[in-house]
Amino acid sequence: MCPRCASQVAERFFGPCESCRKELAAAFTKEAVDVEVARFEPVMHVTPNQVATKD
Ligand SMILES: [Zn+2]
Repeated sequence: MCPRCASQVAERFFGPCESCRKELAAAFTKEAVDVEVARFEPVMHVTPNQVATKD
């Protein structure tokens, strides 16, 4: 039985069913991408200034 959606599933190990695992993995991946974008955004703003100062 899946602890997340409580549906009867034939999983070999205890844990979320396959569809729930994919859902969780997709949500986690999206969150990780959002963090990466937020982390790299300041660098994108700095780059033009460095080029302007260099010239
Ligand atoms: Zn499930």
